[in-house]
Amino acid sequence: MTEYSQQNAPKKGLIVSPIENGTVIDHLTPGKAIKIADMLGLMQGAVVIIGQNLKSTKYGKKDIIKVENRFLTEDECSKIALIAPHATVNIIRDSALYEKRNVEIPDTVEDVALCSNANCITNKEKVPTRLFAQNKSPLVLVCHYCGFEIKGDDLKLKG
Ligand SMILES: [Zn+2]
Repeated sequence: MTEYSQQNAPKKGLIVSPIENGTVIDHLTPGKAIKIADMLGLMQGAVVIIGQNLKSTKYGKKDIIKVENRFLTEDECSKIALIAPHATVNIIRDSALYEKRNVEIPDTVEDVALCSNANCITNKEKVPTRLFAQNKSPLVLVCHYCGFEIKGDDLKLKG
């Protein structure tokens, strides 16, 4: 027997089919789904459904990722926030919405993103990066080591 929640129920005109167990990452900035799926390593073996430029009542357009049998950690949610600050993470269990989370940009971004200053010690030596969120919207990060300011659009994540 399959039970469907409101949120996960098949609707008329539904483009992206529901999943039974896993995570739905919704309200992603259009064009960012592939980047995020790649960053989280979702493409390796798991069933992944990606929708791009879907209609969003809130933001006009959005991307969405559905991944089966994969549940995101807090750390992974923070990473998503750096790229798509309005994203919501829905955990689906037995075809029902189990948990809904908003992603949050952390005050300190530890060893997730790179400093854009080529001469920074974190780019020269094996020093973990540490960036402070000076402003969250629009996103501006400041390097703990060299004081370099990195705008959200220029942000590069660790590979
Ligand atoms: Zn730096």
